[in-house]
Amino acid sequence: MCVDMGRIYENARRILEELPPHVTLVAATKGRSPEEVEEAISAGVRVIGENYVQEAERKRAAVKSNVEWHMIGRLQRNKVKKAVRLFDVIQTVDSFKLAREIDKRARDAGKVMPVMIEVNTGREPQKGGVMPEDALNLVREISSLKNVEVIGLMTMGPYVENPEDIRPYFRLAREIFENIRSLDLPNVDMRYLSMGMSSTYQVAVEEGANMVRIGTAIFGPRR
Ligand SMILES: *Cc1c(COP(=O)(O)O)cnc(C)c1O
Repeated sequence: MCVDMGRIYENARRILEELPPHVTLVAATKGRSPEEVEEAISAGVRVIGENYVQEAERKRAAVKSNVEWHMIGRLQRNKVKKAVRLFDVIQTVDSFKLAREIDKRARDAGKVMPVMIEVNTGREPQKGGVMPEDALNLVREISSLKNVEVIGLMTMGPYVENPEDIRPYFRLAREIFENIRSLDLPNVDMRYLSMGMSSTYQVAVEEGANMVRIGTAIFGPRR
């Protein structure tokens, strides 16, 4: 076997033990096999984050454990119908158009879809996410939709060499999160602030993240 399963188990255990109890670990599993995912689950991982609808569809069919599946990649509108059926949470909503499509498909499926708003804290044109100054208005618009519930905020932040350099972007996300939370909007219950990856999750937790998305620190370098 080419993958060191024991290493995956140990990495996931170590990170779960290190994280404060109020922080949810999302295992970012793009490109990983169902067996690798099961290994992380056996170590205690309860939330799986996938970037692509089709990959998630295949994997979800193969992974038998009862875990939560979160969409953490960019979602195209023509994949929403499938995504609503497949995922427990969509973390990457960044436009009203996308939210409205999710709302429509969720209504057809007879469910209320929990979503998170992705904020482009680094203002990077090539990345998804709503601009920081537009996040509140987007949440206000979405709060009128009956089959979507906003449960938090997600951000990537820019790529940094030094994890310390991402702190201002996480701080900005936290401010937006707290501001929206204080408004008590209908269909909005700001429970989760999802930020921090393998090299930045400690900084993210210090800045208020209660959900971190970790791939390489669990599974090793992407092949
Ligand atoms: C891949 C990915 C992660 C995890 O990145 P690592 O550096 O491998 O920990 C987190 N969030 C998103 C949206 C990702 O695509």
